[in-house]
Amino acid sequence: MHEVAIMQNALDIALQQTRLAGGSQIHALKLRIGELSGVVPEALEFAFDVVVQGTIAADAHLEIDYIPVVCHCSNCDLDFQPANLVYECYQCDQISIDVVRGQELEIASLEVS
Ligand SMILES: [Zn+2]
Repeated sequence: MHEVAIMQNALDIALQQTRLAGGSQIHALKLRIGELSGVVPEALEFAFDVVVQGTIAADAHLEIDYIPVVCHCSNCDLDFQPANLVYECYQCDQISIDVVRGQELEIASLEVS
């Protein structure tokens, strides 16, 4: 399962950052997941429960910030949320290939002590 590998990787980074901060317990972990990252939030939550077992993040609360796709139209300089898979600007009808948001896959914040 794709999500387990991603979650394991995110946890490894979180554990490393906690050590660097001198912490011994992770209380909360917030992830920023873009709609285009190909990750299913529910599967990620499930993976989280599996990978944190036996670690200092075992009691941590997981929060997922799901970011919708936002495109930029170079023709009329508008940032817009496409209505479907064709990224067509609703103001001037030009197709945008410039995705400014929606590809995120990162740790947004970490709460440790
Ligand atoms: Zn436009």
